[in-house]
Amino acid sequence: MHEVAKRPSAYVLTMAKERPKREEYYLNIAKQVAERATCFRNKGGAIIVKDDVIVATGYIGAPRKTKDCFERGYCLRDKLKISHGRYYEICRSCHAEQNCIINSARAGVSLLGGDMYIYHRDREGKEMDSFPCFICKKMIINAGLKRVICSTKEKGMKIFNVEDWVKEWQEKDILDDEYQYGRDLNIKEKLKDDLS
Ligand SMILES: [Zn+2]
Ligand SMILES: [Zn+2]
Repeated sequence: MHEVAKRPSAYVLTMAKERPKREEYYLNIAKQVAERATCFRNKGGAIIVKDDVIVATGYIGAPRKTKDCFERGYCLRDKLKISHGRYYEICRSCHAEQNCIINSARAGVSLLGGDMYIYHRDREGKEMDSFPCFICKKMIINAGLKRVICSTKEKGMKIFNVEDWVKEWQEKDILDDEYQYGRDLNIKEKLKDDLS
């Protein structure tokens, strides 16, 4: 006799015929992917879906075979008290979105026309606005993705058309973009002296 191991269900079905909507279903998978992340700061996961098939996954993680935050026992960005969205060049990890795009290159899969689902939660487990940072946004545009579906605070979701980001940046500037990771940064304010 052996017991069947219990596992938490990501989506509780109340009726047999009830199914999660497609976007919910994929975001829940991104949420599971996020649990593999290797940083103390937050857990982030991303998946890319093409024609209703998951073609790539990625989570916040250091380059393969290098030491991640868990192995070192601390996050360098924490230690240096760096706020969200700043000085990514000294982050040990590739972002979930980046690893997702990178992994599809490893597998030789084109991402053209695909949708990316992104999930992030903070160190306490609270869900965050999973809007990608500017570096990831630029990569998403160049990878040819069509839509980006982000989990938001309070278990919500926000869907972006990548085309709209491009249009927005054509008309205004990257700095006017209001949906960014760590949007409390007020980048424009901080760069005021440099910009004038
Ligand atoms: Zn870290
Ligand atoms: Zn990023």
